[in-house]
Amino acid sequence: MSDCCIIVGASHAGVSLALQLRKEGWAAPIKLIGDESELPYHRPPLSKEHLAGKKELDAMSLRPAKIYADNDIELLLSTRVNSIDTEKRKIRLDSGETMSYQKLALCTGASVREFIPAKGMENVFYIRTAADVARLAPHVRKGRRALVIGGGYIGLEAAAVLAEQGVSVAVLEMSERILQRVTSPAMSSYMQQLHESQGVEIHTGVEVKSIREEGPEKLIDCADGTEFRADFLIVGIGVEANVSLALSAGIESGSGIQVSEYCRTSDEHIYAAGDCTAHPSLLYKRQIRLESVQNANEQARAAAANICGKEQVYDAVPWFWSDQYAIKLQMAGLSTGYDQVVMRGSAEGGVEASFALFYLKEGVLIAADCVARPKEFMVSKKLIKAREKILAQDLQNEEIEPINFVAA
Ligand SMILES: Cc1cc2nc3c(=O)[nH]c(=O)nc-3n(C[C@H](O)[C@H](O)[C@H](O)COP(=O)(O)OP(=O)(O)OC[C@H]3O[C@@H](n4cnc5c(N)ncnc54)[C@H](O)[C@@H]3O)c2cc1C
Repeated sequence: MSDCCIIVGASHAGVSLALQLRKEGWAAPIKLIGDESELPYHRPPLSKEHLAGKKELDAMSLRPAKIYADNDIELLLSTRVNSIDTEKRKIRLDSGETMSYQKLALCTGASVREFIPAKGMENVFYIRTAADVARLAPHVRKGRRALVIGGGYIGLEAAAVLAEQGVSVAVLEMSERILQRVTSPAMSSYMQQLHESQGVEIHTGVEVKSIREEGPEKLIDCADGTEFRADFLIVGIGVEANVSLALSAGIESGSGIQVSEYCRTSDEHIYAAGDCTAHPSLLYKRQIRLESVQNANEQARAAAANICGKEQVYDAVPWFWSDQYAIKLQMAGLSTGYDQVVMRGSAEGGVEASFALFYLKEGVLIAADCVARPKEFMVSKKLIKAREKILAQDLQNEEIEPINFVAA
């Protein structure tokens, strides 16, 4: 039996897990295996500074190459893990080679959902990997027309970058409003106005019926009879957790690989962390699946501690961010199920706006969306964790500093 810990997936979760294992005292070999060819890199800039041409991939490495060598972590890139034999505790690579493990960590992340009406067409782009952006970037040129399918964060971030580069952009969203899955009508409305003020067309409640190609041009027919023309498409209609490797090994999985609060899967020797997992949230008292750097890093660190024999519960307050034009949006917690929204500041002024939306449930703060409000964001994370009732009138009173918000 090998004493090795093998980590599948070399991105935010996999890299954090590998480095934390060493900090927790794992002395045996560590193999970090990823199927992308680049040194593991920060994914968020892909739809932000990298797409805008302001940050090269070299400047986006999660850690310098030397860190892996210094920590005696064997990094295997361009290498895909094909199957797991849980009985023999072995993995098999695409090449046919097998490797034994004592502990295995699955950090396989997520893959983009394919937009079926555009299947197999040219000039249809997704944004998940550095390779995706390398394909898309040459099309981002002044005077071109882009259609963004999906008004979620990634679609909107891409729309902002394209508009700033002089591309004429329309966003098509099937739901009644953009960001419907993740935020309140007030925030959706602010974001829509922000984009429209920068020349981006936003069309909601629109379903694509078919796409035709006329030479290099695409004609998009919608169910309500509207028609769009574009030179290229960017699809951002969500992701699906990469569970197939786990599933085919008999590891319990649904929309994500099912893990306990200790990041353990249904196999006692196999752990999982990051976008690929579904985990119990003690804070929200339900199963959740998150797609964020915070979750990938912190869940991975908890998994590493538990692989090393600790019993560390993972129950962090989720947080996210999004950069669009000059605004920084910071989000703490999950707003699903709120019964009261309190606004502090004003959502007027587009890129100049500065406000926070606080989401309460039975008087307890469960989430906050903050635009240019870093103090409110920082305090919200602590208040959400504390789970105490909070005075709603304090939250909107600009005379009271966020640090002085008190329990009701
Ligand atoms: C364009 C974009 C912008 C984003 N912006 C933000 C943001 O602003 N803020 C934020 O918090 N989050 C953001 N996110 C989300 C964030 O990047 C993810 O939550 C994070 O990357 C998750 O890390 P992960 O390690 O769990 O999974 P991933 O980053 O998906 O990495 C999984 C890795 O495993 C590899 N892999 C999968 N299966 C195998 C296998 N069988 N063998 C070998 N390798 C395998 C995959 O190829 C991939 O490299 C963004 C994501 C994207 C795509």
